[in-house]
Amino acid sequence: MMKSSLHYIFIAFLFMACNDGKETKDLQLKNSPVFSQGKKITSDNFTGTAYLQMLMDADSLNSISVGNVTFEPGARSKWHIHPAGQILLVTDGIGYYQEKGHPKKILHKGDAVKCPPNIPHWHGASSNTPFIQIAITGREKGETVWLEPVTDEEYHK
Ligand code: MN
Repeated sequence: MMKSSLHYIFIAFLFMACNDGKETKDLQLKNSPVFSQGKKITSDNFTGTAYLQMLMDADSLNSISVGNVTFEPGARSKWHIHPAGQILLVTDGIGYYQEKGHPKKILHKGDAVKCPPNIPHWHGASSNTPFIQIAITGREKGETVWLEPVTDEEYHK
């Protein structure tokens, strides 16, 4: 009788453990987004699925553009440079940012990152969690220059 009860308790724990693992894998963002997700990015400057909603275009008064970028898990930009630099504001999720020659940084909601001018870098979501960033990009010295894709090895390192 005692042995049988323990057996059932063990099975119950096993079931909970398996169920918990599944929920972690399917984790989605709990907050409703601040800005619109926008449209799926169709250019080949990104690996995986990402969305862009432009919030502000550069003009004669402000030489910066502001865009909201949403990355699905695993999605990331190619390596690239911004001739006038960029600032990233993280509004949700977990993401990565890496400059050439440096280890990748893990980004969380509330983080702010400065991408210096002409430094090759990439940004994107972590492999299990989406990532949402506001990208504020200087446009006065020319457009973003896109480089090679981020390999799976670089992404997971
Ligand atoms: Mn960038």
